[in-house]
This record gives sequence, C-alpha cells and structure tokens, in this order.
Amino acid sequence: MQIGDLIRRAGRQFGAAPALIDGARVVSFAEFDALTDRLGNALLARGLEPGERVAVLMPNGIDGVVVYYALAKAGLVRVPLNVRETAHEHAYKIADSQACALVYAGTPPAEVELMIAAEELPGLLDTGSGEVCDVRRHRDDPLRLAYTGGTTGKPKAVELSTGNELAEVANFLADLLPNLRPESVMLHAAPITHGSGAFFLPHLVKGAPNVILSKFSTAGFVESARTYGATTTFMVPTMIAMLLEERDGAELSALSLERLCYGGAPIAANVLQRGIDLLGPVFAQLYGQAEAPLAITCLQPWEHTPQRLTAAGKPYTFVEVEIRDEAGKALGAGEVGEVLTRGPHTMQRYWRRPDATAQTLESDGWLHTGDIGRWDDEGYLHLLDRRNDVIISGGFNVYPREVEDALLTHPAVLEAAVVGLPDQKWGERVAAAVVTRSTVAAQEIVDFCADRLAGFKRPRTVEIWTDLPKSAVGKSLRREVRDRMAAAATPE
Ligand code: AMP
Repeated sequence: MQIGDLIRRAGRQFGAAPALIDGARVVSFAEFDALTDRLGNALLARGLEPGERVAVLMPNGIDGVVVYYALAKAGLVRVPLNVRETAHEHAYKIADSQACALVYAGTPPAEVELMIAAEELPGLLDTGSGEVCDVRRHRDDPLRLAYTGGTTGKPKAVELSTGNELAEVANFLADLLPNLRPESVMLHAAPITHGSGAFFLPHLVKGAPNVILSKFSTAGFVESARTYGATTTFMVPTMIAMLLEERDGAELSALSLERLCYGGAPIAANVLQRGIDLLGPVFAQLYGQAEAPLAITCLQPWEHTPQRLTAAGKPYTFVEVEIRDEAGKALGAGEVGEVLTRGPHTMQRYWRRPDATAQTLESDGWLHTGDIGRWDDEGYLHLLDRRNDVIISGGFNVYPREVEDALLTHPAVLEAAVVGLPDQKWGERVAAAVVTRSTVAAQEIVDFCADRLAGFKRPRTVEIWTDLPKSAVGKSLRREVRDRMAAAATPE
C-alpha cells in the first residue's frame, strides 16, 4: 500500500465532504485527491525523479498539505522546513538533504535546481495533468526526512519510509484515536511540519476534516474549536500553559474536545491538573521522537490519575519498549536505565550518517532513544531525562527535570531550565535559570528548594531571566542555558 492509495480511497468514499479547512478556503476529499494528482504530475513533468528530495518551506495551510501529499504520490521525498527557523538553518538542511527542489513561501534561503515559489502553485495545478499520479515505491524507500530538534548538536535527518508512515497511522488508530469517524474534527494549532502533521492522515482516512490554523493564538484556537466543533487537537506543553493562562475557564469547559493530545516535552503536573479540571478527562500524552514518530508510549485520558500525572504512559499495542542498563540487560520495575523501542514505525536510519545510525539502531531493530526512564509496578513508563543532560554531582546522578519540577511548584516560577556547571569539588553543580510571573528574589527560590530536594540536587545558583532559549518547536535548549551560565560563572 502507498500513501496515495489512502488519499484516492478517501476521495472516492467521502467525495464532496470537507477534507481541509483553512479560514474561508475549503477543499473536499475529491478535490484533495485531484489537486495532489495534478501537482504530483506537474512536478514529475518538471524533471524531478522519484526518490529525489524536495524541501518544503511553507506556513501552516492547505497549500503546504497539498504539496506534501503530491510529493508522496510522485514518489518524491519531502523535507519539511520549519518556518520559524532561520535562513541559515534552512540552508543547512537543504544542503544536508541534497534537495533538488525547493517549494517556498517568502524569501528562498538557498538556490537549488528547481525553485517553486508558493505563488506559482495555482499555475502548476492548472497545467498539471489530471491523470492519476501513482509512482509506486518500496515500503522501505524513504518518504520523508525529519530533522531532529538539534538539542545536542547539528540536526540530523531521520529517514522515514512509506511503511513507517503507514505504521504511524495504524498506531494512532489502534490506541490514541480509536473512535475517529466522519463527525470528528482535527484542529491543527501547532505546525504540521511537526507533531500535528501526524494527525492528518488518521483523520483523512476516516472521513473527518482537518482544520488548519495558520498561526497559533489562544483566542484563535478557542474560536475555531467552537466554530468547527473540534474533537481532536495536538499541543506542546507550552501551548497548553498559554491556553490556561490566557483563556477563562468557562470558555474552555464549553469546548467539544474529545482528545487534547500533548507531548514532545515534559509537562508540569500542576498545569496538567488544571487543564483536566477545566477541560475534563480529554488529555492524552504522547511520548515519541523523530526517530520513532510520536508513538513509543501514551498515557490515556482515563489513566491521568493524580499519582500518575507525570508518567509517560504505556507502550502502544504494536510497539515494544524496554529499559536497559549500560550492559544492555533489560531492567524491571523501579530500576533506572535507557529507554529502547522497536516497531514498524521506527526510522530506517539517519540520512547519510552511518556512524550515528550504528550508535542508535541495533541490528535487530531496537532503537536507543537517549531518554532515561523507569517502569513503575503497574507497567507505566516514567521519563527522568535525556541521557546527555544528566548532571553528575559528587558521584550522584541528578535529573534536571526533577529539579525543574520542584522549581515549578514555586508560585512565582513560570519556566525553569536546570543544567550542570563545572565544579572543582563536586565535578558538576546544579544551576537553574528561571522565568518568573511575579517579583521574587533568586535567593528565595534557592531557599524554597531546601526542603524539597536533597542537598546534591539543590540548585546552588538560580538566575532570573526574561525568557529561556527554545528551539523553533518550543523545546527548551538546556545546552544554550549551560553555555551562557558557564561563560558568566566563576568556577567554584
Ligand atoms: P524530537 O525528536 O525533537 O521530537 O524530540 C524527542 C524527545 O522529546 C524525546 O526523546 C524526549 O526526550 C522528549 N519528549 C517527547 N515526548 C515527551 C513526553 N511526552 N514527555 C517527556 N519528554 C518527551
């Protein structure tokens, strides 16, 4: 099966019903099938060969989605670029992926063989042949390249195949969204280049419309959720925190959401609890990564009990998960080690990085996630931190997330990033940068931690910053926090 088969079938089955909605523009299932055929044919007619990479730099919207799935039908490999990143970052990814073509809105960040400005798309669609576009590829051939967040170095491209994408859809339909039906409505509030994009096909195949917001604002989100009767949405934790800060409770509790899926980064327990109090038991947590897209474990709405709010959930039905020690032995409940996963959705390899692939992917298909976690007695995964972020102070492991969670319980602390700084006596010492919502002295925050954290975990330094460095998808960049604090610090 190919991705195009899903689109063609949805076109036949759901015909004139709305498949994509973006403000005043509505595209039906049959039109979406026809548009992707036309554009796919036009791209092939311009000389692109199946298997070649096409970078796409487009804001959230219908055109971007048409481009993505036209590429799939034409057997071309899509390389989505995040509009929030800089021209420099885009140029790096275009060069690294060896893209032959670039479809872009705005100023192109680099020159490649075939340049297609967004304004040219209507012309291409008019001239493209209306025949079925159906370049059949092997299920292991690359369908898309997804760049990692780059929180630990230069971003690497994760090579995902048609088989991976189909498995991702199957994972969602089996566990996360088993009740999708034509009356369901997906509201894309986050960039479809990232997590939200994974929700597109599951809704399409079940005849449900995908509503796309070009930009996220909490007011715009609430208005669209109300207008279209949104049943599903995806947010990163920062967006949930904004929604709860900026909108009033009555507005939120009136929404018809059945699933507010969230993930991509840890969420503060108090934010989550407030969300549940206002929106009801609709929160579903996803733990995944670019290498195993969005499906390693999930915490279902009915599993969000107070004692389990910070758990990442249980493995998806068709996904294996293990926690292993340094020697590779699988660990039982309570023991801390690295999370590994295996399943039909895990990446083929890192694009043109055999060394990184060999370090990450075992020959039997197990993928090292780089995350540290433990099982609890009931089989729920608890994530402690990224392996590379663990601080070792006086021989003890400190998981920055645990310290950040403690800091976030202070009423004045809005955001926190905890890092290790070099220390002559202890090897590393714990330091924190925080953003506050009201005036508070740094020392008060240091003291606040004293009866909440063991001595070796307590931040020795707390700095109050106006904002924390984040990646274009909102992930906290601890590496930058550490560099900035280390440059300013005098070694103790
Ligand atoms: P990326 O590949 O950029 O999507 O980043 C994936 C990483 O984000 C994972 O390896 C985790 O460290 C983190 N992450 C993803 N989902 C969650 C979650 N639900 N809770 C905590 N951390 C998460």
